[in-house]
Amino acid sequence: MYSSILENLKAVQERIHAACTKSGRSTDEVKLLLATKTVSPDRIKTALSAGHTLIAENKVQELKDKYEALHSVPHVNHFIGHLQTNKIKDLLACEVSCLQSLDRFALAEKLQQKLEAANRSMDVLIQVNTSGESSKFGIEPDETITLVRQVAALERLKIRGLMTIGLFSSDTEKVRECFRMLKSLQEQVRAANIPGVQMQELSMGMSGDFETAIEEGATMIRVGTAVFGQRQYPDSYYWNENRENV
Ligand SMILES: *Cc1c(COP(=O)(O)O)cnc(C)c1O
Repeated sequence: MYSSILENLKAVQERIHAACTKSGRSTDEVKLLLATKTVSPDRIKTALSAGHTLIAENKVQELKDKYEALHSVPHVNHFIGHLQTNKIKDLLACEVSCLQSLDRFALAEKLQQKLEAANRSMDVLIQVNTSGESSKFGIEPDETITLVRQVAALERLKIRGLMTIGLFSSDTEKVRECFRMLKSLQEQVRAANIPGVQMQELSMGMSGDFETAIEEGATMIRVGTAVFGQRQYPDSYYWNENRENV
């Protein structure tokens, strides 16, 4: 048992509760997803034992490495990292139920082919680059609706909403603008009434900014550091990769 993880989880839940109260929302409108990059299976199991079953990795290699160790413990796997098309098969093998980082049509087409062959479907969120930072993945905001339309035509992919990584800044109002943009895109997509498209999920907010995200309508926050502690690698290791070499 890693008691600090359990204490951290409690503290995070209190923060969620406070943010929900402040914005007049109910806590069960906000799901807590645990971002488990660099976290060992034992430590993940401690969090799972506290009843938190929604987890996500950023890298396919880590997903594969932890798959066996976590197999016996009930949980739901999402994927939140940049995905190369040649790694789709691993995502299917590791029973990922939702790809939150769908950001280009070429990836969607390949995913559709593999799902078709496996006679399966998968939930997806469209990742939008709301911060304008070139180091982060995601489709440009003004291309979002076009991508949603294209992906909606692929019957094995079930669009459930949008995902974003907010600007890294201590200026809360600038971070808030990112979340507002995602919310406004959600409304635009909803208004377009595209058959087969659901827009209930807004995955936004991390350890440092999830209160703001909740105030702006997040339905899912993705938390790593606040639960598992500081990571050894800087986030640039996960986010600043050259698209061609990921
Ligand atoms: C690591 C990560 C998170 C969680 O970040 P923390 O700051 O550790 O809470 C959320 N979303 C994505 C896409 C991540 O890679």
